[in-house]
Amino acid sequence: MPKSKHQPIHRQPAYYLLTLGCPKNLVDSEGMAMLLQRDGYRATADPDRADVLIVNTCGFLDAAKEESIATLQELAAGKQRHQRLVAAGCLAQRNGDEIVRRVPGVDALLGTRRWMEIVPLATQLRAGRRGERYALLGDPEAGDDGVVLRPGTPSGSAYLKISDGCNAPCAFCSIPTFKGKLRSRPAAAILDEAARLVQGGARELVIVAQDSTDYGRDRGEPDSLPQLLAALCRRTPDLRWLRLMYAYPGHVSDRLIEVMASEPQILHYLDMPLQHGHPDTLRRMRRPSSSAWVYRTVDKLRAAMPDLALRSTFIVGFPGETEAEFQGLLDFVQAVQFDKLGVFKFSAEPDTPAFELPDQVAEEVKEERWHRVMAAQQSISLERNQAQVGRRLEVLVEGSGQVDGQEMGGLTLPSGQPVTLARSYRDAPEVDGLVLVPGRTLPAGQMATVTISGALAYDLVGELTPEMQTTGLDFQPAVELTLI
Ligand code: SF4
Repeated sequence: MPKSKHQPIHRQPAYYLLTLGCPKNLVDSEGMAMLLQRDGYRATADPDRADVLIVNTCGFLDAAKEESIATLQELAAGKQRHQRLVAAGCLAQRNGDEIVRRVPGVDALLGTRRWMEIVPLATQLRAGRRGERYALLGDPEAGDDGVVLRPGTPSGSAYLKISDGCNAPCAFCSIPTFKGKLRSRPAAAILDEAARLVQGGARELVIVAQDSTDYGRDRGEPDSLPQLLAALCRRTPDLRWLRLMYAYPGHVSDRLIEVMASEPQILHYLDMPLQHGHPDTLRRMRRPSSSAWVYRTVDKLRAAMPDLALRSTFIVGFPGETEAEFQGLLDFVQAVQFDKLGVFKFSAEPDTPAFELPDQVAEEVKEERWHRVMAAQQSISLERNQAQVGRRLEVLVEGSGQVDGQEMGGLTLPSGQPVTLARSYRDAPEVDGLVLVPGRTLPAGQMATVTISGALAYDLVGELTPEMQTTGLDFQPAVELTLI
């Protein structure tokens, strides 16, 4: 089995979070920590080992303000090239200008009403160029969205949030307790933001929400996502890729499938977190439990878009999960054959119904089940990736790297060989794999066409098409790859 990941590219990102001030800040910090961890970040107490450094500042008294500034200055002084520094909390909200003036190494300001946007902000910062600075300071409820202090999307990809909050009652999730019920953004505000992002260089917009398919329900317009997607395509004709994340099972309508299949800008990619495959576990999770619905919907999706890349996420070790239920999950994963899968070990969140449930599953059992489902999926992913060999795919360049035997893990290439790291429509930023293109590197944000020449469990290897070689791009022929 080839190694699954190239460590420097896929290593779990880490955050360092320091909280100053009052308990309100502590609560917000806990919320940020939870969101980051849910998104795959790990916490570290050592700033040198973090990718994102966050200081939740306090500006209540002068002494507190000076302590916040001094802390930021200290972290900024020791910042490494790849690290990004975020000033969150009261001082960032009230005296952002002063922070930027006194701590030029700060990369982002995150206001007190915007802490729940830490994940897209961290993602944007990590994908962006060094020196780009962002500020999310407004009041989202007033329709006042974040401002990018220096516009531009160097990675070519940007997130577009269409709603906040969630109406679902999932037993393991605390998001509704602090984000509240679903609040859809007005379509006009979303369309304006999309147009700004595309004007600023975005080739891809990634639609995010807690449940994107519930868009509009709170405004008395359920199932209005298809309409919104179609309107986005009309409003931004220069946009190349529109990607949909976080579809809730049961909310994927025939109209949505029709729009996805018919609008050329909408990618044939769908992320539908299903959380489990056994009806009993799903009932305890307070999630839709009909596997018949899932099979029917996946059939419809694949009939309308035969090249669809389907992603899902699952939780193993939910309280009461028996071996038979877990086996049901494995069978389900085999039956559906997802292209991409994220698997989390259940973690009991305070203030959620699942926190108190009896029959909590032992950590070692969770660990063992996690490995079993990942191993099953690895074979499926590899097989589905192998089916891509020979296809021509459009890719969006994320960045570049240099081959170093140890760093590149599963690939053996001559040391020092440059590699372009890109994504095809099958890969969402941050969560999915890459298309690796050996040869001279291409700039981030550029689109290119590649012919897929190799497959790993999570990544593909491609060669630039001959047309690309004659368009002035400095390309060297692909070198031989050895899978180990
Ligand atoms: S749908 Fe997602 S955000 Fe909403 S309660 Fe369930 S897990 Fe939480």
